[in-house]
Amino acid sequence: MHELSIAMSIVEIAAAELRQQGGTTVAAVHLRVGAWSGVAREALQSAFELARVDTALDRCQLQIEEVAVAMHCPVCQCERAIVSPDDPRCGVCGSAASEFVHGRELEIVALEIET
Ligand SMILES: [Zn+2]
Repeated sequence: MHELSIAMSIVEIAAAELRQQGGTTVAAVHLRVGAWSGVAREALQSAFELARVDTALDRCQLQIEEVAVAMHCPVCQCERAIVSPDDPRCGVCGSAASEFVHGRELEIVALEIET
């Protein structure tokens, strides 16, 4: 299961950071997940609840922020939201996307470490 290995690496990264900072527990992990990251939010939440058992993160909450897909529009010359994930065109002028700036994120943005 794809999400379980991701959840386990999140736990590992957070536990390593906790050790480094000398805290007692991690209250929350804040994660940014793009709409095109290939990760299902609910599956990742349940996988995280499994992965955190018997670790320093056993009471840790996983806060997932979903990131919409955005493109750099060659016509508008700026970042635009797309029409829909199935129709990746500029939501304003309708130009085809050549470059995406958001949507594939899967990153830890913050850890709430308790001392
Ligand atoms: Zn445009």
